[in-house]
Amino acid sequence: MRFAVLGSGSQGNGTLIASGDTYILVDCGFSLRETERRLALLGVSAAQLSAVLVTHEHADHVHGVGLLSRRYNVPVYLSQGTLRGLRKPVEVAGFLACGQRLSVGSLEVTASRVEHDAHEPLQYVVSDGTRRFGMLTDLGSYDARLLNGYRDLDALLIEANHCRDMLARGHYPYFLKQRVGGMRGHLNNHQAASLVHELGWNTLQYLVLAHLSSKNNLPHLARQCFVDTLGCDPDWLEVANQEHGLDWRAIA
Ligand SMILES: [Zn+2]
Ligand SMILES: [Zn+2]
Repeated sequence: MRFAVLGSGSQGNGTLIASGDTYILVDCGFSLRETERRLALLGVSAAQLSAVLVTHEHADHVHGVGLLSRRYNVPVYLSQGTLRGLRKPVEVAGFLACGQRLSVGSLEVTASRVEHDAHEPLQYVVSDGTRRFGMLTDLGSYDARLLNGYRDLDALLIEANHCRDMLARGHYPYFLKQRVGGMRGHLNNHQAASLVHELGWNTLQYLVLAHLSSKNNLPHLARQCFVDTLGCDPDWLEVANQEHGLDWRAIA
């Protein structure tokens, strides 16, 4: 099993997970043309996609979903709440809910509900039967139930959205600071690092920091926070950025 990131941040998100000829794209926050370009850089054509899973209805996650699914006839899976929240409806192949499993080719996906300011936001763990890759972005808080779904992972992509101090000192209006930093907003660096610490990270081959805010975070601050909290090697941490995402990583 392997994974790659098309791009990550408030301007667009997309994560690709593959095993054999099964390709799952989680979220498509880029235009169709940009998605095609980014897939091509990873050596993949949109026609190869087995499914698109959507986490929630925010534009940075759904922008290109409708066009992509129609143009390439790719089945779309999301929660009922996410469909309700979409401005432009898409044709849905199936609904997902918290705790539900979905088989797509040689991969199996399990959905977890997260706290975020969307209708019914889900995050996913994807397994090939042996290895487990977890994604966890767009959440403002977490509890033991959520952590239980993310145990024993081989790779984790986690949101390190903002630095608490940068958000507090920055130029966002008050209501937006409250929203981003709130229980249903986004994880700051400290929260994300604490989550990984609580989860345990000794099984992880990869730890990828994602969805970093371009205004309220800096990659070296996010990295340092994880190094301080986990005591891990700074060079082991990966950061998926907005421009280039992250190239393929193979989970051994
Ligand atoms: Zn987002
Ligand atoms: Zn969001």
